[in-house]
Amino acid sequence: MPAAIEIKNLQKSYEDTVALRGIDLTIEPGEFYGLLGPNGAGKTTTIGIITGLVKLESGSVSVFGKDIIRDYRFTRSKIGVSPQEFTSDWFFSIEKLLIFQAGYYGIPKNLAQPRVDEVMKKLGLYEKRDDKIRFLSGGMKRRFMIAKSLVNDPDILILDEPTAGVDVELRRMLWEYLQELHEKGKTILLTTHYIEEAEKLCGRVSIINDGKIATEGAPHELIRSLGKGSIEVQLTGWQASDGGKLNGLSFTYEPGEGDGRLSFSVDDPEKELPQVVELVSRNGCHIHEVKITKSNLEDVFVALTGREINK
Ligand code: ADP
Repeated sequence: MPAAIEIKNLQKSYEDTVALRGIDLTIEPGEFYGLLGPNGAGKTTTIGIITGLVKLESGSVSVFGKDIIRDYRFTRSKIGVSPQEFTSDWFFSIEKLLIFQAGYYGIPKNLAQPRVDEVMKKLGLYEKRDDKIRFLSGGMKRRFMIAKSLVNDPDILILDEPTAGVDVELRRMLWEYLQELHEKGKTILLTTHYIEEAEKLCGRVSIINDGKIATEGAPHELIRSLGKGSIEVQLTGWQASDGGKLNGLSFTYEPGEGDGRLSFSVDDPEKELPQVVELVSRNGCHIHEVKITKSNLEDVFVALTGREINK
C-alpha cells in the first residue's frame, strides 16, 4: 500500500525568506504524526503545500501514491484540513456552513444532514448549531474548524495547531476525540509547538527547525536516545564507593548529615527504577525518597539546535 503522504525534497521561498530547505517525509496510513517546531520553522508551509493552499515550488508530494499537482482532485478528496487561521463566512450559522462544506465535496443533502449532525454532536457544537460563526468564542470557532475538516469523512486529517488558544478543558476534549479518530484508522498529521501535545498524541514526530527536519522518530525513542534521565535516591546506610558503576549503571554518591544521595544517570529512568531500588535494598540501605527526572522533546530540540521551541 502506498504511503498516506510522501514528501520528497520540498523547498520553498517567499520573496527573500527561505521557508523550506529540503523536507523529506513519509507518513504511513493510520499514523498519528506530528510536525513539532518553533514559530517560523516551516510547519504551516509544509502542510499548506500538501493541501494545495501554498504553491509547490520544488520537490514532490504524493497522497496515497498520487501526485498532488497532477491528481489534485483525488488527493484533495482524501484530505480534510483545519487551518490555523479562522476562515469562514462569519454571517452564516454553524449548521449552514457545514452543510455548504458537504455540498462542496459533492455529498448529497440527504446524506449531508446526518453527517453534519454527527460531527456537530461529537464536537459539542450541536446546541449551538444555529449560532452565527462571528459570535462564537475562540474555542467554539476552533471546534467549528475541526468539524469542517471532518464533514467529508476524509482518510487523512491535517490540523494546523489544533489547540492553539483553547482552554485546558477543550484541549483535553479535542485530544480525546483525535485519539478516537486515530483508533478508527484515520491518518492524522498535526503541527504543534506544544511539546506535551506531540508527546501525548503522536506515534512519530519530526522536529522541524529553520526549514529542515532536525530529527524524526517516536517521542519516547527520541527522548531515550538523548540519554539524559536520572534517578536520585535519598538514603541511609550507603557503605559502598562514592561513584562508579553498579550493574552497569553510572552513579555518584554525595554524603549528607545522617543520610546521603545516590544519583544514577540512565537513558530510561522508569525502566531502570525497579533495578535501582533492588540494588540499593540489597546493599542494606534504607530509602527515604526517590526522584525521577525525565527529558522531554524540548530537551531533544535544545540538544539538536541550541534553541528552545517555545521562545
Ligand atoms: P511555522 O508554521 O512553523 O510557524 P511557517 O511555515 O508559517 O512556519 O513559516 C516559515 C517561514 O516562512 C517563516 O520565516 C515565515 O515568516 C515565512 N512565511 C510564511 N508564510 C509567508 C508568506 N505568506 N510570505 C512571506 N513569508 C512567509
